Amino acid sequence: MKDGILERLRKGPVLGAQGYVFELERRGYIKAGPYVPEVVLDNPDALRELHSEFLNAGAEVMEALTYYAHRDKLRIIGREKDTRRMNIDALHIASDVARRSGALVAGNICNTWIYDPNKPRTFKVVHDMYEEQVGIAASSGVDFIIAETLEYVGEALIALEVIKKYDLPAMITFGATYEESKDGYDWIDGCRKLEEEGADIVGFNCIRGPSTMMPLIRRLRKRVNGYIAAQPVPYHTTNKLKAFQFLKYGGRSAFPTNLDPFLATRDEMAAFAAEADRIGVNYIGICCGAGPHHVRAMAEVLGRMPQASKYSPNLSEHSLLGTGAKLRNSHEKRFLKKWK
Ligand SMILES: [Zn+2]
Repeated sequence: MKDGILERLRKGPVLGAQGYVFELERRGYIKAGPYVPEVVLDNPDALRELHSEFLNAGAEVMEALTYYAHRDKLRIIGREKDTRRMNIDALHIASDVARRSGALVAGNICNTWIYDPNKPRTFKVVHDMYEEQVGIAASSGVDFIIAETLEYVGEALIALEVIKKYDLPAMITFGATYEESKDGYDWIDGCRKLEEEGADIVGFNCIRGPSTMMPLIRRLRKRVNGYIAAQPVPYHTTNKLKAFQFLKYGGRSAFPTNLDPFLATRDEMAAFAAEADRIGVNYIGICCGAGPHHVRAMAEVLGRMPQASKYSPNLSEHSLLGTGAKLRNSHEKRFLKKWK
């Protein structure tokens, strides 16, 4: 039997890759705005392809694309009746691809936009939505559940309770848009609370780029004994604008469809992975904006040799950049002139 997530983490860092919704939106299969993963039912081959690309690039976990595949979001786009099928199919596709290389499969739930600490009746609505999704994931045989981009500690605790009801390892990560959670917790205290209540892996994902997530995970590593996770977005967030939702381009919000000028390079993401490993982050990954080139560079810096490494850059063989390389045709000469 293959090792589960906790056994793998005991042996060393695990590399995750997500951001499926963002990448499939860029590829034309998901609508920006609602961001509901309709691709699962409408273009399953596109989803299968992206899973394969992340797997080839070194991702060790295939996270089922059930982000926002919950009743309330589906109701908004008039597809509530598809909830169950969308979840089942997403899990099936992730498992199918993972099986090729022994990667793990994670079920996925996220913030609901319904939870309100001042309206206790919302607790049950959130609970029931998580229950439906985690129940389907558990019966499809996932290895663990990732509950992500949570902004309320209270909502995260509901997610944890539901995951533990199904006796699955729980990875719970906050989306740290602001300096503290929306229900007033210091982020690190929120992570500690989750750990005390039984979360197996705690940390952060999405929202912040490497430079603004790093200070949080340094603090977290010092104050939490168990496994921690960090999956930033590959964007250049700044000390002033810590979350990618705040970045501006051309005088208006760059988020979510004009973030391209802020994209981090593969080398920057590799540097993040190396630093995260050095300070003791256990689950290292990447979120919205991720491309397979980022994932491969992160895998390689962690000492992995994924399938896609067969085609990793070798610039010594490049006509212009290689040492002593001769310019092989006039096309290249033209470009060289232009760049001078
Ligand atoms: Zn994300």
